[in-house]
Amino acid sequence: MTRQSFKRILLKLSGEALMGSNPFGIDPQTVADLAAEVKSAKEQGLELCLVIGGGNIFRGMAGAAKGMDRAQADYMGMLATVMNALAMQNALEQIGVETRVQSAIKMDQVCEPVIRRRAERHLAKGRVVIFAAGVGSPYFTTDTGAALRAAEMKCDALFKGTSVDGVYDSDPKTTVGAKRYETIGFDRVLGDDLRVMDASAVALCRDNDIPIVVFNIRQSGNLARVLAGEGTATIVQNEE
Ligand code: UDP
Repeated sequence: MTRQSFKRILLKLSGEALMGSNPFGIDPQTVADLAAEVKSAKEQGLELCLVIGGGNIFRGMAGAAKGMDRAQADYMGMLATVMNALAMQNALEQIGVETRVQSAIKMDQVCEPVIRRRAERHLAKGRVVIFAAGVGSPYFTTDTGAALRAAEMKCDALFKGTSVDGVYDSDPKTTVGAKRYETIGFDRVLGDDLRVMDASAVALCRDNDIPIVVFNIRQSGNLARVLAGEGTATIVQNEE
């Protein structure tokens, strides 16, 4: 399947994509810019699910490293993802994109719980569905949440927006001459520990044959370009 033939995709953004140039938190202008990217992706006729991390606000591992109980800290991290989801919902609706937020932790006053069949209806009606709170359990990440939702919503691909334009054989930020892969197999990513996403997320995508498209979300207009099969990205997929 080519990038152009995808009908339904899940877009995973790390929480840090929402910070802009700030060291933490939510920068409204950055969220507005991302929302505009999502809108133009939708205008290509795609059905869009969205998962946003929480690392711009709180990560459980960071809390645990400072002596907090890991599970307690992870629940705080999950709540951070709900804040990011609401910020993105606000930005999308301000530019006329209908959205629904579904959280893996129930909070009826704020958003819907995750209900797959209802999410299907939202997508059929042209709404963007933002899945929040990861898988709803501590000791997981939103990468795994994204892979899980991509599988249950039968997405054609998982688009992982990061600060680099693909998967490299070594860290391009520190290694001169690092080589970017056009495509790479799931097993290679896991075997070489290339850290595209968490191992559990990569394994879930491998087992359900969901390609992961890794691209740079920080370049303006890149999401639409990559979806159109242009621009720079790496596709992680099952190899023959
Ligand atoms: N988290 C969790 N279970 C999940 C998803 C997230 O416990 O299913 C917590 C975990 O503490 C994590 C934090 O929420 O560090 C924020 O998510 P993540 O680190 O995946 O955000 P990102 O790195 O994508 O911004």
